[in-house]
Amino acid sequence: MKRFVPPDAVCEKIVALLICGYDDEDTKAVAKAVRLWARWYETKYKLVWCRDRLPVDDKGNQCAAMCSESGELELVHPSYHKKLVKRYRGSGLQTAIGLTKPTWVKNVLHELGHLVTWAYPETRADAMANDVYRAAMLRLE
Ligand SMILES: [Zn+2]
Repeated sequence: MKRFVPPDAVCEKIVALLICGYDDEDTKAVAKAVRLWARWYETKYKLVWCRDRLPVDDKGNQCAAMCSESGELELVHPSYHKKLVKRYRGSGLQTAIGLTKPTWVKNVLHELGHLVTWAYPETRADAMANDVYRAAMLRLE
């Protein structure tokens, strides 16, 4: 299946902003990454920070991040994510939502994949996230 992701330099910038946003708990850096992505795909979105809860899907399940059909992007605030990492180290919840920095970054990228076309199946959003992450890490490492 052919996938369209931004050029490597754009992927690098987006992932670097996400990593820095996570490390420094800098929501402006994350917002900038999302803006770059949305501008590249000419798509509209609304960024919502979950500072003391996890996003909940329409079936009532807690998620690592979420994107609705209307373009509302719910991301777990880095400070809350770090709190959960400590609280649930080694537990089932940690496995379920992948409480590590790389998975936080990939979860955001995954939702950005959905943002481009909400109807993207999970596998395609995952593949897109992995493509962007790989392209960026080849340049950042
Ligand atoms: Zn998804």
